[in-house]
Amino acid sequence: MLFQKDIETMSRKDLDALQLERLKRVVNYCYNNVELYHKRLDECGVKDGSRIKQLSDIEYIPYTTKDDFRDNYPFGLMAVDMKDIVRIHASSGTTGKPTVGVYTKEDLNTWSDCVARVAMAGGVTADDIIQISFGYGLFTGALGLHYGMEKIGATVIPASSGNTEKQLMMLRDYGVTGLVATPSYAVYLSEAAKESGYPMSDYKLKLGILGSEPCTIAMRTQIEQNLNIRVSDNYGMTELGGPGVSGDCEARDGMHFAEDHFLPEIIDTDTGKRLGENEVGELVVTTLTRKGMPVLRYRTKDITKLNYAPCSCGRTHCRMAKTMGRTDDMLIIKGVNVFPTQIENILINIEDIAPHYQLIISRKDYKDSLEIKVELTNANLLENYKLLNDLQNKIAEKMKSILGLRTKITLVAPKTLERFQGKAKRIVDLRNQ
Ligand code: ADP
Ligand code: ZN
Repeated sequence: MLFQKDIETMSRKDLDALQLERLKRVVNYCYNNVELYHKRLDECGVKDGSRIKQLSDIEYIPYTTKDDFRDNYPFGLMAVDMKDIVRIHASSGTTGKPTVGVYTKEDLNTWSDCVARVAMAGGVTADDIIQISFGYGLFTGALGLHYGMEKIGATVIPASSGNTEKQLMMLRDYGVTGLVATPSYAVYLSEAAKESGYPMSDYKLKLGILGSEPCTIAMRTQIEQNLNIRVSDNYGMTELGGPGVSGDCEARDGMHFAEDHFLPEIIDTDTGKRLGENEVGELVVTTLTRKGMPVLRYRTKDITKLNYAPCSCGRTHCRMAKTMGRTDDMLIIKGVNVFPTQIENILINIEDIAPHYQLIISRKDYKDSLEIKVELTNANLLENYKLLNDLQNKIAEKMKSILGLRTKITLVAPKTLERFQGKAKRIVDLRNQ
């Protein structure tokens, strides 16, 4: 189902024209209202945007980075007076000092439109009862999904995160049909549901609108089987206003980008050179309509690719592949580049282990090593040395053949690794300690 059919199925030609017009406008707006952009646009010669004649002219504009947000913390990139701001959010600070996002009334309205699109593309209708199990607060996820869901007329339960027993009780008692959470929390809830003694038939759940961290297809399948739901993925970040930047449609072959509000590019992380369709690199996004805090060419650090081919769902906006992770998360061990999602993909297809793992990187005698702690599903295995040893070797061999990296595998008892109610934190880097 489409929330804004005319926009979501607009022809490429019209979309390009709309983007060009909006790009000129936002460059002009940034030039006139944000000191940092004024200075940079002067330096690069683009100035007030009147020199932008075609979309590709965007390449003359310098990138904006997370450091720019930090250096201008909290409100240096704001383009309006504080009196026009009606909401402030901040990032969860996964990789350092939080970054701040501010919204005008119009920004909130655009944001909820974008989230409403993602929700409807994921199968939500006005008949659904949605439990939002993202932590409410400064994090954009909870309130973002909240307003988007209300906009399409769904019933919203602002459950927030934590208190898993109560979450399960609400899911059952209120006849919840859709769950909003991180994939990690969905895994946790599904484990708790299994143990709670209530059969899955006591739940009316059918949809999972999950996001805010990478979810491999293997992990998604597991969540779907355990909770008996269909999962759709959606993507966003504080710097771009939160969720609603892109989301899965029923085809789930890439997340449709809200191209009327965001202009995406893919670049080579090392050289900064622009890459073409279907080439893997770092996502760079320009906001086309934000008023409170517009962003020009933001380097997201997320690794993905873009596909402009028509989609079977009828939407014309380009599709972004699931991210492999952030450039920050990429581990470089003995010269081999590894993303945690690659490790997860390998682990999840192995029997007798749970989808809980921790990656510990250490350094000894100038050599890095990676230990992967993995949880067993069956505690009895711990008493059988041979079986345990075989399983350990099997996992290590898979890692070696797929990643080209020797790893140490440590199998641990069920339920001993940390569970996450928000985004999972699976990397423990001991190298600089
Ligand atoms: P923080 O950077 O502190 O985690 P945010 O909450 O703004 O703050 O997180 C945004 C980041 O979360 C994105 O840049 C991306 O790395 C990750 N993310 C969000 N949604 C998804 C998703 N659907 N798939 C993969 N990664 C995602
Ligand atoms: Zn589609």
